[in-house]
Amino acid sequence: MTPFENAKTLNKKYNCFLEVFEAGKYPASSGKLDGMTVAIKDVLALKDAHLTCGSKFLENFTSLYSATCVERLQKAGAVFIGKTNMDEFAMGSSNENSAYGAVLNPWDITKVPGGSSGGSAVSVACGAVRLALGTDTGGSIRQPAAFCGTVGLKPTYGRISRYGLTAFASSFDTVGSFSQTLEDAASALEVMAGHDDHDMTSVNIPVEEYSLGSQKDVRGLRIGIPKEYFGEGIEPDIREAIEATKKKLEKTGCLLIPVSLPHTKYAVAVYYILTTAEASSNLARFDGIRYGKRAKESATLLETYVRSRSEGFGPEVKRRIMLGTYVLSSGYYDAYYIRAQKVRRLIKEDFINVFKECDALLTPTTPTTAFKIGDKINDPLAMYLNDIFTVSANISGNPAISIPVGLDRNGLPIGAQIITKDFDEMNLFAIGKEIFEELKMKN
Ligand code: GLN
Repeated sequence: MTPFENAKTLNKKYNCFLEVFEAGKYPASSGKLDGMTVAIKDVLALKDAHLTCGSKFLENFTSLYSATCVERLQKAGAVFIGKTNMDEFAMGSSNENSAYGAVLNPWDITKVPGGSSGGSAVSVACGAVRLALGTDTGGSIRQPAAFCGTVGLKPTYGRISRYGLTAFASSFDTVGSFSQTLEDAASALEVMAGHDDHDMTSVNIPVEEYSLGSQKDVRGLRIGIPKEYFGEGIEPDIREAIEATKKKLEKTGCLLIPVSLPHTKYAVAVYYILTTAEASSNLARFDGIRYGKRAKESATLLETYVRSRSEGFGPEVKRRIMLGTYVLSSGYYDAYYIRAQKVRRLIKEDFINVFKECDALLTPTTPTTAFKIGDKINDPLAMYLNDIFTVSANISGNPAISIPVGLDRNGLPIGAQIITKDFDEMNLFAIGKEIFEELKMKN
């Protein structure tokens, strides 16, 4: 069976792809990634492929160019298999906000795969591809990686160009990857990272040989255990798995030290004020004129806007646009938007300070393992709280990774998160390989 046929078969079980390509549509060149099968989250542009962003609005939209990260992978020899399912415009934690149906978790098909890059996580977990691209604005790579038992890498903000990524919250959005191994994540990062003239926020710091990270000695590294990440609401099996992970690190010669990030309690609030504000502005371009579907039979221009947006966006996207417009409106701008910007700075300073004491942080990726489809979809607040351990690294921009470290009593994957200093992806790989557990699916 070709990888394309394999992906099509698996897609029938899990609904993880929105498009599987015909063999030969994107011929691979030879290079560092020679023949690596890759799936692309449908929020990243690939020339001549659909770009739906999980939305009805863009059902028939086709990309005119490729995202920089996608182009770099292609030049390095990646074989593109398809575009993956996702929460609409990357808003969600369960993939239930996709206009194209929920994605099922291959570990237990009654459970969500996490979101918003749920399709990418599943495409790797079920064996359809070796690597999948995702985007992480508040946890959308790390949380589904934890739920599906894969490695999930969110590099430093600015490490990979965002050119060709449909913006959700531009000062948070980060391109990254899902893979079965740390080696694949490292070699793909090596290829994708680095400055790009098309994205002014992509930095010019030299790209390291991340694939050497697995050979790096971790003895003597100081691992901070932030007390704010071990409070109430964490499932006991996750707590236990993280305790076991700590022991492993101690055995390898790392030093564990208790640390504190005192402004953590404001992170979810700050995240949902600032990202909705940015989203309300970014999504203004979907007006039925320039992109996507136009509502029929509107008498005036205003009516065209209103009807196209009412018909094109799903409920979660509308909720975020309204929240964002509210926090930016005159009268509330100072109380919410400006205040949240100030707290963003305090959260960044927490990280700057803590990394004077330690080289990396270890936390759970999520407070729970994969939850049931339908369980949280009618309770946005419960859904938002699932991001509690992941949003901070997007508020601060620090690199972070989720590593599979075991299974809970129901056989569902558990992820541990490592966070390091800005642009120190090397230590994510070095520490990651010491705690990595290969998880075996029964069926
Ligand atoms: N779950 C978060 C949200 O709904 C994160 C999304 C993301 O990282 N794209 O906003």
